[in-house]
Amino acid sequence: MDRLPPDLQHVSPHSWLSEELKQSYEERIARKGFFELYVSKLAMQKMINHSKMLGREEREAMGFMLGDICRHESHGFVMVRDIVTGDLLSSCDSVRFDHGNLQGLFKELDASGFDYVIVGWYHSHPGFGCFMSKTDMKTQSTLFSERFHSAIVIDPVREEIMAFRLRGKRCAPLDFSVYWHELETPYRGKKIMRRSRVLRRDRR
Ligand SMILES: [Zn+2]
Repeated sequence: MDRLPPDLQHVSPHSWLSEELKQSYEERIARKGFFELYVSKLAMQKMINHSKMLGREEREAMGFMLGDICRHESHGFVMVRDIVTGDLLSSCDSVRFDHGNLQGLFKELDASGFDYVIVGWYHSHPGFGCFMSKTDMKTQSTLFSERFHSAIVIDPVREEIMAFRLRGKRCAPLDFSVYWHELETPYRGKKIMRRSRVLRRDRR
């Protein structure tokens, strides 16, 4: 969809960014003034809460990020508006959806209530830092290989966060911004539209 990226009064760096990433964020603002990835405060809070909750049991959290693929003039960007998750089989260093019980996830997807695109995924590394493991890379390159797909990794114990995107064969860190709009709910009053339960590849 054609829309303006959030203005600079309504964006901020995540407080869990490392000093190096904070600097990269500021440089990006100075150089370009916009980002390729914006995450709503609401979606961010849900991801953090989920990661903290399972982190207390020394388990990883995971879910999908839902949002819009946007463009304004020559600038393409993604806005994450909400997240969904389901029953997880997770331990301290691995996580996957419980394939025997995907109903919860599908129910959440159906209930999400806006015309969403799955724009990526998030998961947590409780206590061992933010990076893309070999397994994570495989997940990224098989399920999230579109240009608009990104991954967010959260360490709720060290309080660290990073975003990644596939660049060629590797996953590179991606500067992102948290955004909010006082008047905007994640659903913007849109009527409920159900989408097919597959990762959508037909919209750029
Ligand atoms: Zn991982």
